[in-house]
Amino acid sequence: MAELSNNTAHVEDRSINLTLVKKKKIAKNTFEVSFRIGKKKFPFIPGQYLHITLPSLIEHDPRGNARDFSIASSPNDKYLSIATRTSDSPFKKTLLMENLKAEIAGPFGVFTLPQDTSQTIIFIAGGIGITPFLSMLKFSTEEKIPRKIVLLYLNKDRESAAYINELEKLEKLNPNFTLRLLFTRLTPDNIIQEIEDVHNSLFFLSGPPGMIENTRSILANMSISQQMISIEEFSGLKEETYTSEITDNRSAEYKLLQRSLPDLEALLQALSNSAIVSETNAQGNITFANDMFVEISKYSREELIGQNHRILKSGLHSKALYENLWATISRGRIWRGLFKNKAKDGTYYWVDSSIAPILGKDGKPFKYISVRFLVTERQQAEEALRETIKQQNALAILSQEALANTNLLLLFDTATKLLKKTLNIDYAAVLKLLPGSKNLLYEAGTGLDFAVKGKTIVSAEENNSMAAYTLASKQPTIVKDITTESRFVGATILHDHNVRSGVCVAIQGSENPYGILQVYSTKKRDFTIGEISLIQSFANLLANAARNQLDKRKDEFLGVASHEIKTPLTSIKTFTQLLYKHAEKQKDEHSLLFLSKMDHQINKMTDLISDLLDISRINSGKIVYNDELFNINEIADEIISELQLTTKKHKIILEKNISRKIYGDKFRIGQVLTNLLTNAIKFSPGSDKIEVSTQEDDERVVVSVQDYGIGIPKNEQPHIFGRFYQGNGIRGKLFPGGLGLGLYISAEIIKRHNGEMWVESEEGKGSKFSFSLPHKK
Ligand code: ADP
Repeated sequence: MAELSNNTAHVEDRSINLTLVKKKKIAKNTFEVSFRIGKKKFPFIPGQYLHITLPSLIEHDPRGNARDFSIASSPNDKYLSIATRTSDSPFKKTLLMENLKAEIAGPFGVFTLPQDTSQTIIFIAGGIGITPFLSMLKFSTEEKIPRKIVLLYLNKDRESAAYINELEKLEKLNPNFTLRLLFTRLTPDNIIQEIEDVHNSLFFLSGPPGMIENTRSILANMSISQQMISIEEFSGLKEETYTSEITDNRSAEYKLLQRSLPDLEALLQALSNSAIVSETNAQGNITFANDMFVEISKYSREELIGQNHRILKSGLHSKALYENLWATISRGRIWRGLFKNKAKDGTYYWVDSSIAPILGKDGKPFKYISVRFLVTERQQAEEALRETIKQQNALAILSQEALANTNLLLLFDTATKLLKKTLNIDYAAVLKLLPGSKNLLYEAGTGLDFAVKGKTIVSAEENNSMAAYTLASKQPTIVKDITTESRFVGATILHDHNVRSGVCVAIQGSENPYGILQVYSTKKRDFTIGEISLIQSFANLLANAARNQLDKRKDEFLGVASHEIKTPLTSIKTFTQLLYKHAEKQKDEHSLLFLSKMDHQINKMTDLISDLLDISRINSGKIVYNDELFNINEIADEIISELQLTTKKHKIILEKNISRKIYGDKFRIGQVLTNLLTNAIKFSPGSDKIEVSTQEDDERVVVSVQDYGIGIPKNEQPHIFGRFYQGNGIRGKLFPGGLGLGLYISAEIIKRHNGEMWVESEEGKGSKFSFSLPHKK
């Protein structure tokens, strides 16, 4: 009962006299009763309830002359309105009389609209439990508070639903408010359908006990933390069955109290074994502590007795919570809620706590009994689950953005904002490593007031910076407390922003790191493994996006550059041919030799450029395929006779085993075969034959090109179809003139035809490249 420690907070006596001025029917058996507030200002809080005392009743009421009522009006209204069911109780009959004098105290209650408007508010109301929500809705709408509110309003039927017209009007006025009328029992689906992010929502429950219990268990099954749920149980419905109410109300517990003393002792024993039980006096000082209290709090009984519950305070809960607690129990009502307490050894535990006041003859509480059940594990599991869901959400959002967004800086900005929100930190930033690796440029971030995006430069020199340390260690750097950090000093900018703790991870590039992603907090903080891995996942996603963008730029460049080169090359080729003819006429043998060599080089260059053009077309999806049925044997014959002219050493042999035609782009398939043959010739300078074969079965045709040349080492074979790959070490130098694009382009063309391409090769013995194409179905 650290909760009772704040015993200085007591309720002010706010009693004032009011005159009833208006009553109107708002639903079946339901009236709204309004009082004139007059000049005296009433301390009004939307969502709260009043304690109304009627000084004189028309006849004696066994339940007394006071009741609680939720406020239906907004603080801006002229009248203070409450809603009530009609009943034949003397209290209600008196309340509905004209010219009534009433005395009210309050406001009380757990419902207050939080300051933070980012969380969605979910009202779940049953029957007349709508009243406090109406008040909060009116207020939010009038004050134009920009927060998302969803109201699930449960009723037997439309007639029994109070304030329907008002609510529908509010829905029209307030674009952030959604009203859902439900005429069935609440189901988890109702909640999932209406609310996007249940774990970032605050739930307010108000209604009769059965509805509250059902809703509470639905929310618990959805792993929604009790901390996110505020409840006002509304017993107003019982007024309808007023005559049987008293016996009903006392039912189970009352009967138990009629039992014998040994029974009660056994009951107490059972309770004491499973719960923390304590008693305090009216000031909140402990007068009794059971064994479990001693065990869990880790204080001895002597240390506890006489102490104020303040010693158990964890510091987590707000002053308002304690005030509310005191307002409730000092007025004789039971308070229930979740508390985080601190044990003597500094560890924390969570309790589901009920505090009941014991009233003296004067009707005022003279002591309090508290029963608390330990819920630490459940609470921690819930918290962990909520965190994980939040993190997964953030990752999903970033992935979507990465797919949709081609602007890297925007993506970086989104990433830092998402991290700030998800991890609840103060700053997040992306810094790009500049050429030379000495400096980092602040590219995107959030929270850093002294840094300018695209301008601020941070040193990445050793010793000094966390970034350099991260890049060198190739692992996330976690700073628990920068004031005691010994591995590096940290850039000035961190100190300027009062950074205390942080995490820094590298954003990998294809060769060098792209830069770093950092998050910081001005409070000392231990980042969990889950949080660190989230930051790393963010960095990986960003790295991927950066690489993709770089590839895209390269492709665009290649496309433009090769196109620009192709045009002058065509004229050079024409001039060379003209000069050749001229030299022929002049019988200038010398020039003829040079010009034919020149023509050969120009052809090679044209081939290279068309490869480059192809590659940019492949990557931008701009290659156009002209598919038709064709005979692959004919194509192979043509290509072989053409290429046979280029080599005197090799005999190219074709073995045809195909009868059916295949479907595809014959020009592109020819290009693949040409590539394989050119490679086979190029990489087998010491051999004298190359074998080409075509085979088929029911499924597909297979074309293979076998050479007896230098072969490809096993470890290189997986990379051979990659872009710009030319093999390791000296081979690239021994066989100059390529770009490492031919096989990549060939494989892409075959893939586009739904075929496959592969290599079998042994170093020093030769290679066999094959591709398959499926028959058209
Ligand atoms: P390029 O021939 O222009 O370098 P390719 O994509 O056609 O590009 O080939 C990539 C690399 O694969 C070549 O540089 C070479 O190292 C290897 N390679 C391709 N074909 C053969 C072959 N028949 N025998 C040995 N190595 C080959």
